[in-house]
Amino acid sequence: MPEKKTPPCVARRRFLRSALAVGAAVPLAGVGLGSAARAAEDLPRAEDGHAWDYVNDASDAADHEAYEPGQACDNCIFWTGEVADGWGGCQHPDFEDVLVNADGWCAAYVEGAT
Ligand code: SF4
Repeated sequence: MPEKKTPPCVARRRFLRSALAVGAAVPLAGVGLGSAARAAEDLPRAEDGHAWDYVNDASDAADHEAYEPGQACDNCIFWTGEVADGWGGCQHPDFEDVLVNADGWCAAYVEGAT
């Protein structure tokens, strides 16, 4: 059976349709990410004592029975990454409405993958 070839004008039309779809989707994705980042940036910053004996500076937890040197929010499994100025997200349910400090710590700390 002879191979069926797509006429060049049909192939070109398909290519242009795909390119238009990708071109339209990329800026929309950027708007979505920008909004999400901005929304996270607008969250209040946790204060000492927010929950689980949270402190913005892990060295302030040196005398806490659960604290071990080297533990900090930015190496905790709940840390989602910096949003701005050393502050970032925490997936722990008691911290989902605030930003926590990368150098902070709380008693819910769980060592993350490094
Ligand atoms: S759970 Fe982890 S990231 Fe969240 S505040 Fe506590 S130590 Fe920081």
